[in-house]
Amino acid sequence: MKFKSMILVCLIILCGCSATQIKEEEYLEKTVFAMDTEMTLSACGKNAHTALEKAEEEIYRLNNALARGSEESEIYAVNANHGGRVSEETAEIIKTALDISEFTDGAFDITIAPVMDLWGFYTKNFYVPSDAELLQAMKKVNYKNAAIRERNVTLINGASIDLGGIAKGYLSGRIMDIFRECGVKSGIVSLGGNVHALGTHTNGTPWRVAIQSPDSSSYICGIETEDKAVITSGGYQRYFERDGIRYHHIIDPKTGYPSDSGVKSVTIISDNAALADGLSTALFVMGAEQGAEYWKTHDGFEAVFLTDDDEIYITEGLVDSYIGDNEYTIITR
Ligand code: AMP
Ligand code: MG
Repeated sequence: MKFKSMILVCLIILCGCSATQIKEEEYLEKTVFAMDTEMTLSACGKNAHTALEKAEEEIYRLNNALARGSEESEIYAVNANHGGRVSEETAEIIKTALDISEFTDGAFDITIAPVMDLWGFYTKNFYVPSDAELLQAMKKVNYKNAAIRERNVTLINGASIDLGGIAKGYLSGRIMDIFRECGVKSGIVSLGGNVHALGTHTNGTPWRVAIQSPDSSSYICGIETEDKAVITSGGYQRYFERDGIRYHHIIDPKTGYPSDSGVKSVTIISDNAALADGLSTALFVMGAEQGAEYWKTHDGFEAVFLTDDDEIYITEGLVDSYIGDNEYTIITR
């Protein structure tokens, strides 16, 4: 397997320098824990140190703004008051999440919060609900119960919102903005399953992002990329087990149960990290077949599906950037 030599900066490979290559400049690194995730940030250049400091501040700022469990957050206030006025930035994120909910016909559902709570994913007091309890919570789940006009959010029929499926994507986009503002031209961040690359390596070679195997510490394939987010949703990322059954954290809004659409993971590659994050969750819920149909009718992203049978499907825009020995099937338009 080609990936044996991969360095685990959670999915990032740095190219080795030979005498004929331009020497790599040094990358500074920082590890931050937020949003229940270990985040690794890496930047190169003379302002790299400042860029990493500012990025860390941004992580804490957005964590406080978007975590619905924190009483300080705007999302907490909106949920507690069935709506309300939010900052311009939060309004933008809610709009994006609502758009994705609509475009994916509710596979992504911004109002999934009551069901996440029932399963105990938020508090980590995990619990397998009865059908009656689920039915009750599901009455509150429907993205059509959430609306935003300018900066005013309205929630009806007991709805409450959860931005967990998109927050880290938005955050990595913000970190890229900060890197750029600081004059950093080459960097990469890994926020759990969310990788976002700025530029290329300093020697001009593209970043190589590996997609984790859900079943081992190895990789199913890699994707060469420049200036893009590579975001994976997988049932293996967060879960609990009861009586030998695994319950993961991506809920099918049609049933209220952890989605069971025949995929182990879905990876989305896009310039737009918030979109990529929302779509990774949505296409995981849809599964490979429906997800492929979605890709055929929507622009702005590429996708890798790993099915329960360990088959790999990639959209045709990835053919030239695919790395690895595992066979794959190409999805064409
Ligand atoms: P991700 O890891 O990006 O797929 O996002 C999973 C997170 O999104 C969960 O921890 C929940 O906070 C939230 N979530 C779970 N299921 C859904 C869904 N169907 N639509 C929107 N958000 C969801
Ligand atoms: Mg997501």
